[in-house]
Amino acid sequence: MSAVCRVGDVPVGGGNPVVVQSMTNTDTKDAVATAAQVAALAEAGSELVRITVNNREAAAKVPEIVERLRDVHGVEVPIVGDFHYNGHTLLREFPETADALAKYRINPGNVGRGARHDANFATMIEAAIDHGKPVRVGVNAGSLDPELLDGLMEENARRADPVSADEVLREAMVASALTSAEAAEEIGLPHDRIIISCKVSRLPDMVAVYRALAARCDYPLHLGLTEAGMGAKGIIATTAALSVLLEQGIGDTIRASLTPEPGGDRTIEVRACLDILQSLGLRSFRPEVTACPGCGRTTSSVFQELAQAIQAHLDDRMAAWRVERPGVVDMKVAVMGCIVNGPGESRAADIGISLPGTGEEPRAPVYVDGEKVATLEGPTLAEDFIAMVEEYVESHYAPVGAGA
Ligand code: SF4
Repeated sequence: MSAVCRVGDVPVGGGNPVVVQSMTNTDTKDAVATAAQVAALAEAGSELVRITVNNREAAAKVPEIVERLRDVHGVEVPIVGDFHYNGHTLLREFPETADALAKYRINPGNVGRGARHDANFATMIEAAIDHGKPVRVGVNAGSLDPELLDGLMEENARRADPVSADEVLREAMVASALTSAEAAEEIGLPHDRIIISCKVSRLPDMVAVYRALAARCDYPLHLGLTEAGMGAKGIIATTAALSVLLEQGIGDTIRASLTPEPGGDRTIEVRACLDILQSLGLRSFRPEVTACPGCGRTTSSVFQELAQAIQAHLDDRMAAWRVERPGVVDMKVAVMGCIVNGPGESRAADIGISLPGTGEEPRAPVYVDGEKVATLEGPTLAEDFIAMVEEYVESHYAPVGAGA
């Protein structure tokens, strides 16, 4: 089991629930827009949010972003600063920023070359020590330390049985992460203030790299398939990659690196992470709706509309239920299209409805805790079923503060 690293008040690793992260795509020097997007990501379920700190203007705004989050949005999510190239100067020049951030992400491939690499890296680690912050040693295949990679390539070429260039690249990533973490500890950063990630854009590489990391260290691991892409392709690639590792117990925090559509909703990357963890049975975030895909037995759109209405209602109500009736996240709701699998799936859910398929009687039996309790029909069918779901929540999930 990995060590536990606390980021703000969020424990990462050590068997704690896998933590969901995200990253803003606003210009950090725009404190208003950045705070608003961080708030949206946090409200969608992101438990840590990373922002880029790429120049002096951005660094100067970090304390204001944290203040706005707390005072304007009522959000206290830990903010992680993403540093490349100039983190050593920014963290020293802006001590209030170093203090306001909950963690620093340091990419060892982007902290300078040769002697400057070690000095710049040490400066950032010393800032983390001085401000009592953890760091993520975040290696990325696209910005791997070229000196390290060249050295390993040359060493491999001299071997009697050289391995493939891909294998050398993987080993270079793992070595970069582990030697950097070791160097951070030698400088004085406690072991339990280090998280590691090694991001690549191809699933087989990612799985191999993280398996090697899990076998060779006990630092908490941050998982992500970098540059996963847009739309369904990005979500599917991320889900496949993360699922393989999470199912093996590898990974303590995750991010879905999805490219949004122009002007698109950044919170989709959070939704993807929540759904991955819930589908794997690792965490519960909202009631699960089992809906069949529909087929030629459901020629009307009633079934799709009801499934959509139920999901929308559950999503709307979740913000209040999360506070008032947190147990609701475990509720299972079934919305099924016809008699073939409808009654069976509806009985297996906490509450389920089996709609009539083509040619069936226009009635929809409703099952609660495995028993048929009602039959709905007519134009108010959706509202009637939603009312029954509300009743189920009222009667089955005690409000917070209610006695046993
Ligand atoms: S439950 Fe009925 S409508 Fe739904 S996919 Fe199966 S056969 Fe088709």
